[in-house]
Amino acid sequence: MKLDEREIGKRLEHLEELCKQQGLPVTPQRIAIYRALLRTDAHPDAEALYDSVRREFPNLSLATVYKNLDVFEKLGVVRELTPLHETARFDANLEHHHHLICTGCQQVVDVHDADLDAIRLAPAQVAGFQVAKIHVQIEGLCPRCATRANAGADARS
Ligand code: ZN
Ligand code: MN
Repeated sequence: MKLDEREIGKRLEHLEELCKQQGLPVTPQRIAIYRALLRTDAHPDAEALYDSVRREFPNLSLATVYKNLDVFEKLGVVRELTPLHETARFDANLEHHHHLICTGCQQVVDVHDADLDAIRLAPAQVAGFQVAKIHVQIEGLCPRCATRANAGADARS
């Protein structure tokens, strides 16, 4: 999801409102971290966000990034993913969507697919759970990692 600057502005205003409602300070760092997350569809981890926001705020600490990500999650403006049970990754795209995860380079790519959205499970299959949403994580190799894996297999044969 690439958002245009107008939509990013709206989301930033929304964050400010939520912070005010919760009595949380709206700091320039907080805004910058959320903006960086809104501007990317790479599902960065905390360190990658830290690297990008630090260019603008050299005094930023990694701990501040973690604290803000925690706040964003609690405010419901960011979703945390733990693909492959590795480092947590963050997604500011709150639209219903699914993810392709490369088991080679661990990149995370959005998938919008009506068939995946349409998955319905019978109550008996879900042990009586009241299902709120279904998020499908598709694991495999991205084109680049697949090419590399095939080249390796060719070299060995
Ligand atoms: Zn890959
Ligand atoms: Mn996503």
